[in-house]
Amino acid sequence: RASVSKYYLNPVKNRKNLNIFSNSFVEKIIFEGKKAIGIEVKIKNKVKKIYAEKELILSCGSINSPQLLMLSGVGDAEHLKAKGINVVHDLKGVGKNLQDHLETYIQQECKTPDTLYTYTKLIPKVLAGIQWFLSKSGPCSHSYLEAGGFAKSSPERKIENIQFHFFPSFVIDHGLVNPSSHGYQLHASPNHPKSRGSITLNSSDPYDHPKILFNYLEHEDDLRQTRECIHVARKILSQPSLKPYSGKEVGPGTEAQSDEQLDEYIRSKAETAYHPCGTLKMGIDKMAVVDENLRIHGLQNIRVVDASVIPEIPSANLNAPTLMIAEKGSDIINSSN
Ligand SMILES: Cc1cc2nc3c(=O)[nH]c(=O)nc-3n(C[C@H](O)[C@H](O)[C@H](O)COP(=O)(O)OP(=O)(O)OC[C@H]3O[C@@H](n4cnc5c(N)ncnc54)[C@H](O)[C@@H]3O)c2cc1C
Repeated sequence: RASVSKYYLNPVKNRKNLNIFSNSFVEKIIFEGKKAIGIEVKIKNKVKKIYAEKELILSCGSINSPQLLMLSGVGDAEHLKAKGINVVHDLKGVGKNLQDHLETYIQQECKTPDTLYTYTKLIPKVLAGIQWFLSKSGPCSHSYLEAGGFAKSSPERKIENIQFHFFPSFVIDHGLVNPSSHGYQLHASPNHPKSRGSITLNSSDPYDHPKILFNYLEHEDDLRQTRECIHVARKILSQPSLKPYSGKEVGPGTEAQSDEQLDEYIRSKAETAYHPCGTLKMGIDKMAVVDENLRIHGLQNIRVVDASVIPEIPSANLNAPTLMIAEKGSDIINSSN
């Protein structure tokens, strides 16, 4: 893993032609007709207008990029009018096509004391922290999602349609709740879910969070694939090499065998993999928002460079694909200037 700010921004942050404003929040994009000319931004509690000499690059991520566009008058005209926003450009696809990977955890108790449960106890936790600060080594130096793989959820699937990660602990409520025993889990999610969600505005206030509707599992095949994920995960976790460790299955639990029981577990326990994308998708159909050069259809002087331009979620975690979009985007911007 590499931090984007450390490896991309730090080496260039002293350039004379670069200004970085931290603690700042863009409230609106300023348009002159269909041309983006600047932004209204709150910097350390003072709202300023900053104008672009060439063009604007929008990269607030899959939730906030469509939100900022809608706040600035770009989006579905009906929706904008309902929120009292002047329409600059009617573009129906803004905020639509939201996708994510929805993960289901298949959890098994561990018979040996080899999992991260050890570090939920005060003394091992403090010692692990000290080891990290002194030598950057030990339990705190791992991400722990270090084993993973791709598999077909059933023989009739043409390509590997699920991704697995192995984690040496139970994750409960996004890791906010400590486990009460040693255990491990496989995270499994369909790579290409068919359900689509949306980002819409709650109000015209930029500080009001937008409505985020993922519509997870709306498509029947997403539920079917996730059930298949559980069957494949159970097969992996029952392999002889794991026998010395494998205790009782606690999630979904061996009593859950029927489709109805598995659906109930998936619906109540599945969690986001934090991969929202697709809300300003690239393409040429009427719901597409950006073209192949990342320019917003129908507007001038504005491009989008972030995970929102991804038309269909990739079979992978999103950090690397987003960096690839940024690398390609910088080439496109350089060559057109
Ligand atoms: C908890 C979590 C764990 C993840 N783990 C992984 C992982 O293990 N591996 C992996 O590959 N991917 C992971 N991801 C996904 C990955 O981080 C994202 O896909 C990626 O960061 C998307 O990049 P982006 O540039 O589109 O958006 P972001 O990285 O979200 O960048 C958008 C930036 O815009 C800023 N911003 C938003 N609105 C405004 C505004 N109005 N004014 C000023 N600034 C604004 C935000 O503060 C943010 O800094 C994870 C995501 C999360 C949330």
